[in-house]
Amino acid sequence: MKLKESILILQACEDIKESNLVFGTWGNISVLLENGDVLITPSGIPYDSMQEEDLVLCDMNGNVLSGGKNPSSELKMHTSIYKSRPDVKAIVHTHSMYASIASATLEEVPLLTEDLAMTIGGTLKVTNYKTAGTQELADEVVKALGNVNAVIISNHGQTAVGSTLDDAILAAIMCEKACMLYVKSLEINKSPRVLSEEEIEKMRNTYTNFYRKLRAFKE
Ligand code: 13P
Ligand code: ZN
Repeated sequence: MKLKESILILQACEDIKESNLVFGTWGNISVLLENGDVLITPSGIPYDSMQEEDLVLCDMNGNVLSGGKNPSSELKMHTSIYKSRPDVKAIVHTHSMYASIASATLEEVPLLTEDLAMTIGGTLKVTNYKTAGTQELADEVVKALGNVNAVIISNHGQTAVGSTLDDAILAAIMCEKACMLYVKSLEINKSPRVLSEEEIEKMRNTYTNFYRKLRAFKE
């Protein structure tokens, strides 16, 4: 599929592998195109052998428009997020290690450091449990995500979003860091100091208005 977004998605697949966010073929990436269609990774295909022609073009109703493989089994989650969050243009879903631990043990993951406040922008909520690939799971993800940039999916993994694919990958990396920091902090002290919602909002504004602009994000 000759779309500039295909190259970005294939690069993103390499990035999430290198960042140790994926195990096996689980997880998926999508980008919202300017015409409102969604380009998404295929279901069950290894990241390191994924080709441009394996990516699947779908519409917002979940219909496959082109592509030789099945779309990700989490397509409903991707389209539901795009429908509910007009600021989101890219989504990264992984079963990363610490997010998975948090997903099976915690109700939420408070943010402990300023970089997490800047990139995630609010406490990470854990969804109610629903079966993978269902509309019920998609609805829970939308509800728990709210207006922050990542969410933990109960007994499953994490989903991160962004206004660019770079932002969504960074949010996925930071979500994993947030879970790792909190899980490890709980081992040291049952009530680690957490950032207040006011401080998180302040850091988020500093990030969007200044710090994020220091580096070039691929649109
Ligand atoms: P794919 O169907 O995209 O391979 O993803 C599996 C998965 O993450 C199910 O939640
Ligand atoms: Zn999954």
